[in-house]
Amino acid sequence: MDLTTLSIDAIHAGLLARQFSAEELVRATLERIERENKAIRAYLTLSPERALAQALEIDRKVRAQEPLPPLAGVPVAVKDVLSTKGVRTTCASRILERYIPPYDATAVERLEAAGASILGKTNCDEFAMGSSTENSGFFPTHNPRDLTRVPGGSSGGSAAAVAANLAAAALGSDTGGSIRQPAALTGVVGMMGTYGRVSRYGLVAFASSLDHVGPFGRTVSDVARVLGVIAGRDARDSTSADVPVPDYWVALEADVRGLKVGVPDEYFNGLSPEIGDNIQKGLDLMARLGMKVEPIRMLHTDYAIACYYIICTAEASSNLARYDGVRYGFRESGADDLREMYKKTRDHGFGAEVKRRIMLGTYVLSSGYYDAYYRKAQKVRALITRDFLEAFDKVDILVTPTSPVPAFKLGERMDDPLQMYLADIYTVTASLAGVPGISVPCGVTRSSPHLPVGMQILAKHFDEARLLRVAHAFERAGGFEVA
Ligand code: GLN
Repeated sequence: MDLTTLSIDAIHAGLLARQFSAEELVRATLERIERENKAIRAYLTLSPERALAQALEIDRKVRAQEPLPPLAGVPVAVKDVLSTKGVRTTCASRILERYIPPYDATAVERLEAAGASILGKTNCDEFAMGSSTENSGFFPTHNPRDLTRVPGGSSGGSAAAVAANLAAAALGSDTGGSIRQPAALTGVVGMMGTYGRVSRYGLVAFASSLDHVGPFGRTVSDVARVLGVIAGRDARDSTSADVPVPDYWVALEADVRGLKVGVPDEYFNGLSPEIGDNIQKGLDLMARLGMKVEPIRMLHTDYAIACYYIICTAEASSNLARYDGVRYGFRESGADDLREMYKKTRDHGFGAEVKRRIMLGTYVLSSGYYDAYYRKAQKVRALITRDFLEAFDKVDILVTPTSPVPAFKLGERMDDPLQMYLADIYTVTASLAGVPGISVPCGVTRSSPHLPVGMQILAKHFDEARLLRVAHAFERAGGFEVA
C-alpha cells in the first residue's frame, strides 16, 4: 500500500485498523520528499522531528484506544508565510531568511491540536506576491504535472506538495487567488473561506483586508476536513468572525438538485477554448446533476484587477514597513547611520516584485493621489461586492474558470509583471468581495501536454457548506475527469 496517496478518511480508518502506524505514514512521506522534492522544490524547510513527535503521540493514542482527533496522523505542509514556533519562517524572502518565530499561527496550532503532523514549510512567492512562485527569494518551485512549468502562486509550494503526494494536505494563503490559482494549475482542490472564517493570527500580513488562510487537498472531502479544523472565531484576530462553523464534512452529502448556478458572462469574454471547453463540460455535468445553470451579469468585473492592485499594494506598503533591520531577521552591515541601515537592509532584503509593490502602494496612498487612486479603488470595491450580493439574490452559487490559462512555462512571464497580474483576473473579485471560493479540477487541456484545468465555485458569505457540497457532488460524478 502506498501510504502517501491516502485520503484523510483512509488514514483514519487505517490507523484504527492498525494497518499502519502514524510513524510509518510520516516516515513514508518524508522518504518520498527525500526522493522527489529535489526536482519539484516544494519545500523550503523540513521539520521531521516535529512531525514524528506528533506521530508517536498519535500511535500512543491508538494503542491506548483513546479517541482519535479528526486529523490524526495526517502529514501536512504549511506555506512559509505562517508562523511556526521554533521553525524558520521566511515568507520566501531574504529579509526573513533566518527568522525563527516564538509562536504558532492559530491555523497551525489548530492543525496540530487535531492530530496533524507538520512536515515542513513550503515555498511561495516572496511575501505571497505573485502567481507563479518564481518570485521566491530562494528558488522557483516546479509543477509536478510538468516540471518545465510553474505550479502557479503564490502558494505554489503547498499546491505542488499535495499534487505530488509530498503531503496529504496543506495550508496556503489567498489574498487575490493564491490558493485557488495554484490548485487549478496543479490539479488539486484549494479553498478560500469567507474573509474572517479562518484566523489570520500568525499569518504574516501582505494585504490585511484581503488575506485569508485556507486548505489544499486532493479531494473535496479532505479540504472539508481541514477547513473544519482551522475555521472559527479566534480572540487573537479581531477580524475573525464569530459565526458558527457547521460540520462541513457532514454537509457534503446533502442534495444539490434544484440549486441555481449562475455563470457570469464577464468571465468568459475572450477566454481560450482550451479552458472554456472544459468549464462548459463541467457546467453540462452540473445540469445533469439537477442544478439549474443560467447566465448572469457582474458588471464591474472589468475593474477588479486595477482595484485589487491598488488596494493590495497600498496595504502591503504599510505592512512591510516593519522590516527595517531592527525588529526582525536580516540587517545589512556596514551602514554609517540609521537611515542608511534601513535603506541597505531593505534594498538587499527585498526582491524586485516586493519593491515594485511598496513603491506603487506608497504612491497610491500619497496625499496628492489618495483620492484619485486609493479612495476610488475602495468605491469600486464596494461596487464589486454589490455585484456579488445581487448575484446571490438570484442564484445559489457562481461558476467561473479559476485561471484564464493552464500552467505556463517557467520564465515565460517573469519580464512582464502586468501579464503576471492578469493571471488573477478571475480570482481577485471574490477576494475583494470577501466571499468564499473553491477551485476544483475540471479535466485537462486537450492539446499535449495535458495540463490541469480548474473550475472556480463561489458562494455567498459564510456559505462554505453549500460550496463544498456542490464541489463534492461534482467530484463524485466524475467532474474532475471531465472532457
Ligand atoms: N497573484 C496575486 C498577487 O500577486 C495574488 C497573491 C495572493 O493571493 N497572495 O497579489
